[in-house]
Amino acid sequence: DEHEIITTGSIGISFYPEDADNAVDLIKYADTAMFQAKQAGRNGYQFYTKKFNQQALTKIRLESALRRALKKNDFEIYLQGQQELDSHLLIGAEALLRVRRGELSSISPAEYIPIAEESGLIVDIGDWVFSEVCRLLRHWYDNNLLPLGFKRIAINISPVQFERHDFIKKIQQCIQETCVPVQHLEIELTESSLQESTHSVIEKLVSIKAIGINIAIDDFGTGYSSLSRLKQFPIDLLKIDRSFVADICGNESDMAIIKAIISMASALDIGTLAEGIETQEQADILETLQCSQGQGFLFSKPVNTENFEAILASVKKSSKSILESVA
Ligand code: C2E
Ligand code: MG
Ligand code: MG
Repeated sequence: DEHEIITTGSIGISFYPEDADNAVDLIKYADTAMFQAKQAGRNGYQFYTKKFNQQALTKIRLESALRRALKKNDFEIYLQGQQELDSHLLIGAEALLRVRRGELSSISPAEYIPIAEESGLIVDIGDWVFSEVCRLLRHWYDNNLLPLGFKRIAINISPVQFERHDFIKKIQQCIQETCVPVQHLEIELTESSLQESTHSVIEKLVSIKAIGINIAIDDFGTGYSSLSRLKQFPIDLLKIDRSFVADICGNESDMAIIKAIISMASALDIGTLAEGIETQEQADILETLQCSQGQGFLFSKPVNTENFEAILASVKKSSKSILESVA
């Protein structure tokens, strides 16, 4: 039809007899190598190495472990507290996915979430996390377990979930079903969720805000958000990525980046929370730079819901005794 079509080729190569001694395996390995050539940007070639095969096998194993965990209801929520840096008040928690048993129980979600995203499993997993957090929050609210000043539980949302056309509908449905106090919910999006066509992103963010949910940007500073884009989005909180916090004491450029993020956020009336605070020195520097909130092993590691309820109870008890001593 007179259209000019440009095609390129991706080539995978395996050798007889180094890689395999039969045609079936040779073709399988060449196919694995071709897949890598495509991942490396297409229009190129790649030789098969054993490493590719191991990577592919690990991926298949983890994906089926994820399917099993979903089916057997083996997921659970861990919570990590978030503090106000000057008052040390517990102001929130982040919900983090964990698996109760098997291989996935000893692996960080950072390793298997990408596999869940690639396979589409993240949609069901994300739905489970969202409804479980709503259920928890409702329970704490009903039983008066939330201490004074406790603002929110934050839920990580994958770009794959966020981009789906029914994302808003699903969260509305879950909120209705659980009657959760929405003012205590926050969602964490990554910068990559905001890269898509700006119009539909803004529409979704506005709907989320209209429901009453807070919006945070996770791992901020590692993506490519521009100032002008940020200004258009109704964002409540920037979570400064822990890679900057890790070197804040010794690395001048990390310190400069953190300073810039804080002053930019404050000009746009957005809060800042530093992730991955491990030492008192880091916390002190961040406080001096007027970062108002923090999260990290210095304050507490992620714990299961039972242990987090114990933390809530002890915070409640100590604030009550402070109030009593003031009275
Ligand atoms: P994230 O959302 O940035 O979560 C913070 C991660 O940093 C958690 O790792 C937490 O355990 C870890 N962390 C907190 N404080 C410190 C610290 O002081 N030092 C160090 N070294 N690490 C600290 P985790 O639980 O392994 O989760 C890793 C990532 O997996 C999360 O990063 C998030 O991107 C993803 N993830 C976790 N749960 C979910 C979920 O329910 N849904 C989605 N879509 N992603 C999730
Ligand atoms: Mg997060
Ligand atoms: Mg983060």
